[in-house]
Amino acid sequence: MGRTVKTEAVVLRSLRLGEADRVLHLYTPDRGRIGAVAKGIRRTKSRFGARLEPLSHVELLLHQGTGELGTITGVDLLDSHRGAREDAYRLGVALVGAEAVLRLFGEGEGNPRVFAALARFLEVADDLPSRVPERPAVDPLALAFQLKLLWLAGYLPHLESCVECGGEGPLVGFAARTGGAVCRACAAGSLALAPATLRGMEQLLRRPLVEAADASGDVRAGRETLAVLTALYEFHGGFRLRTLAGS
Ligand SMILES: [Zn+2]
Repeated sequence: MGRTVKTEAVVLRSLRLGEADRVLHLYTPDRGRIGAVAKGIRRTKSRFGARLEPLSHVELLLHQGTGELGTITGVDLLDSHRGAREDAYRLGVALVGAEAVLRLFGEGEGNPRVFAALARFLEVADDLPSRVPERPAVDPLALAFQLKLLWLAGYLPHLESCVECGGEGPLVGFAARTGGAVCRACAAGSLALAPATLRGMEQLLRRPLVEAADASGDVRAGRETLAVLTALYEFHGGFRLRTLAGS
């Protein structure tokens, strides 16, 4: 019973299931986020263990039975993203992006543009300069990718004028509730933002991801942009990213 489908996918997360199996959280172009079981993957002789690591870009054969989760019956590796995986800093950046996709986009909502952005983000992360001892959470590439995801999710931050009164500014803060920058008169309760942070966010949104990878991270702008993202996730999605917490 059931049917087998073929789909491209990126592995966002891999969780243990029983003795030898794993549940994978995958992002696909046409079906959005899906869960699937990889049986026997933790055995040393597994046919596709190494091909289903987090960040792997694969083509899958997926058997859909009566249960909610499909079972993976075949894997072709398209890109292992080894570059991102082999360096702790780059891995940190890539995992922030993977978790943001996981939390922002629900199951059963296909969005090929999100998939294309994710695939591109991981390609750029493979060649990212390693900025140790900075935190991956404030890396310009991680920030730019999350801003683009918010745009694709319908939460594009409004940065051109005061989101409360429509005034030109100067803009001095960010209000998560209304999702935009605010002027001094409307700044009560907002996050304070330096002018360089607002300019930086506009550029990260407008420019290709590869230019974010080359950008020199202004530390204060990075921290403030991260605070904006965190506030938007909390206010609009009700979640926090584990990969952004701590260190
Ligand atoms: Zn205002």
